[in-house]
Amino acid sequence: MCKYLKKAWDSPVGSQLISQVIYVGSLYIIELATSLISKTFLEEIWKNYSQTIITSAIFISIYIIILNCRRIKSKKLSFLKETKTQEKICGYHWIWQWKYIPEKKKYKILDIKPICEFCGEAMIIPLYSSYYQCMNNHKIESDKINFIVAEDAIVRKIKTNYPNYSDKII
Ligand SMILES: [Zn+2]
Repeated sequence: MCKYLKKAWDSPVGSQLISQVIYVGSLYIIELATSLISKTFLEEIWKNYSQTIITSAIFISIYIIILNCRRIKSKKLSFLKETKTQEKICGYHWIWQWKYIPEKKKYKILDIKPICEFCGEAMIIPLYSSYYQCMNNHKIESDKINFIVAEDAIVRKIKTNYPNYSDKII
């Protein structure tokens, strides 16, 4: 039932039909409710609590809008939480950052670094050196590490895991 409704909601005709049913249904319910409750009773409530009702309505609307924005944002950018490999790629674990490229409207892996297998710290390549080195002075010869191959493999993996956003990643 739920699955069927969701499918209908995703199609333009279906969603319009559901909205209509909800709209007509709520009109009917409101009419039914007001016919059951006396008019003076409703007027009394409105007179005493109108400020509270309006304030609550405004706060609830703002809350719903914020929730919705958050949901859309987190759904849109879910792949950005990936900043570290779960399994070894080209013999190492890697960490990186994401950079947004505005002119392409895509995200790119930036500042990719292998992680030291002895202490878990990120390794960098010191100037004029043929070694990658972590802050605890563990070293790997730099020619043993192929950045381009690793980055390619990571991007491919993320695109496979987040197929909806594969066109968002360079
Ligand atoms: Zn280390």
